Amino acid sequence: MADSKTVVVATGNAHKVVEIEAILSRVMPGVRFVALGELGDFPDPEENGADFYENALIKARAAQAATGLELAVADDSGLCVDALGGAPGIYSARWAGEHGNDAANNKKLLEELADVADADRGARFHSTVVLVRGEEILRGDGDCPGVIGHELRGSNGFGYDPLFWPDDVPGRTMAELALDEKNAISHRARALADLAAKLQ
Ligand code: IMP
Repeated sequence: MADSKTVVVATGNAHKVVEIEAILSRVMPGVRFVALGELGDFPDPEENGADFYENALIKARAAQAATGLELAVADDSGLCVDALGGAPGIYSARWAGEHGNDAANNKKLLEELADVADADRGARFHSTVVLVRGEEILRGDGDCPGVIGHELRGSNGFGYDPLFWPDDVPGRTMAELALDEKNAISHRARALADLAAKLQ
């Protein structure tokens, strides 16, 4: 019989496992959350979906197939900049070429927005979380709106955080927030809350 008490979390990021477990365990009591990497050494699937949802689903389905578990959860997220027509979007991690090169990505963002006025520097982080339960698919979506700054500020977080001024916490960039402050307003927390509401 399939193990319906273990959820495999399709991410290599330990912080995400903690965040996902903290929110989903409230509505999935007695369920164990295990990072995919703890269950074996599986290759990353190709994230060739057309949007955040498709990429999250690809990761969740791959984790299900690799482990044989019935339950899997995955998220996909990124930064969408108004003045760039929503870019870098699903390409956020590898926008400047090399996957996960935050410094190069932030440099590119500053260059692309060099001539864009403050009033037009709106952006949002977006996250889509997908939970698969056998064939069933449940999804949650969350946004964190803000503005792109003109210089890097702060050393917490990752990715585009030093350039992102969240509307919810005026006067500080995302990289100047403590982890619990970021988790209270983040796109991922909101997507997880959206998903959790559907599980109740
Ligand atoms: P992932 O899907 O969570 O791995 O995120 C993809 C990319 O989006 C990351 O490599 C970052 O460039 C960007 N990103 C996603 N979430 C955040 C965030 O909370 N802060 C800053 N950048 C983020």
